[in-house]
Amino acid sequence: MECCSFFDLLISHYFRPKASKLVVSDYSRSSWEERLVDDVASEVSVESPRDYSSSPVQEDCIYSSEDQCNSLASTPGINGDTAGHIIKVALNSPFRRGTLDPPLRNVSYGNLGLDASNSHHVWRPRHIKLTWSAVKGEDLSGKRMINNYIKERVINIGNYSKVVLCRNVADEEFYAMKIVRKPRLQKFTIPSSEASCSDIYKEISIMKELDHPNIVKLIEVIDDSDCDRLYMILEYVKGGCILKGPDSTGGIPEATARKYLRDIVTGLRYLHSCGIIHGDIKPENLLINDSGQVKICDFGVSQRFEGNNDELRCSPGTQVFTAPECITVLGSGATYHGRAADVWALGVTLYCMIFGQYPFIGDTIKSTFHEIIHRKLNLPKSLNPYLANLLEGLLCKDPIKRLTLEQVTQHQFYKESS
Ligand code: ADP
Ligand code: MG
Repeated sequence: MECCSFFDLLISHYFRPKASKLVVSDYSRSSWEERLVDDVASEVSVESPRDYSSSPVQEDCIYSSEDQCNSLASTPGINGDTAGHIIKVALNSPFRRGTLDPPLRNVSYGNLGLDASNSHHVWRPRHIKLTWSAVKGEDLSGKRMINNYIKERVINIGNYSKVVLCRNVADEEFYAMKIVRKPRLQKFTIPSSEASCSDIYKEISIMKELDHPNIVKLIEVIDDSDCDRLYMILEYVKGGCILKGPDSTGGIPEATARKYLRDIVTGLRYLHSCGIIHGDIKPENLLINDSGQVKICDFGVSQRFEGNNDELRCSPGTQVFTAPECITVLGSGATYHGRAADVWALGVTLYCMIFGQYPFIGDTIKSTFHEIIHRKLNLPKSLNPYLANLLEGLLCKDPIKRLTLEQVTQHQFYKESS
């Protein structure tokens, strides 16, 4: 379908007085763009306008006809002004899906290397809701809202984002809303057309594929082309990070560290089996849920690899967690192996869990890198010898001799009952 006829179709469709859905969901198909075209085609084929009179706010829909204003306003938790605002925005921008160029529509799995023919794993996309419209409002108590999400409090501020606890009025569940400022993010991205799809769009297309108990789930993406922020709605992981931050007060008990290690290794093995290098394994990106299970989050710098070839060129993760070989290839055009680099970061994370400190750190980035490359790992003599042996295997400077994740699962420390 040609671009202009596609937009014409959208315009004529949404100019109808009884316009139906403004927000589209279900991204379980092969590409978001393809899905959008399918959605429009299927909606256009509906002969008579849908009757929403009996249904209040539906989970997937923001209505763009005035008839729905009342039912929206009567929804618990949404005040009349917000409902009116939602409707006003909807009516004033009836074809916002088609006018500008929402970046997500330019992202196809092809240009991100997410081809269904990827030999690593069975292609099993999850149901992710995609919403093209971000409508700001307030609930009755004055809390700010984005669409049907009430913002409760800030959970944390990451390197590229703010993460807010929010409540969905549709299902009364809590979610984590990761808010990314699009223009600020662009400053950090590499300006080639393909790389500009990173980081947030690459993060979304990677997360969309993942379905594992040790990985944070992406639920919905709200990407309004008129808004400089993009919102990722994530499963909320209540317990915070596995470690509040390396400090001199020591780490966590060995048995807890072992349990966390098992969860992280299980999640990482799953990622690697999907052809994904996480690229930023560290305590802040490892969250604990109610039952003490670790969930890996933050796929902002993750990269894909094909087949068994995990050679990568750039390592945009966090400096103190960077493997020595990633530093030595910097600027040389040479490559490093992504899986081995994730294993190194796992080793640094385990060290942080046990000692509450980083294994290699200097006063500057340069001196930190020098420590990582040259300084021998020092472990106290009193340390559990199995744990010492595992740390040495994970933090082995030579990536060829470093333990693999499979070897970690066979290691005595890993297998030991707590
Ligand atoms: P950034 O890419 O900016 O580092 P992250 O995805 O790492 O963003 O999120 C920043 C912080 O927000 C995390 O370190 C964590 O404390 C918190 N966070 C992220 N996702 C969730 C979640 N799903 N549930 C609870 N807290 C989260
Ligand atoms: Mg992070």
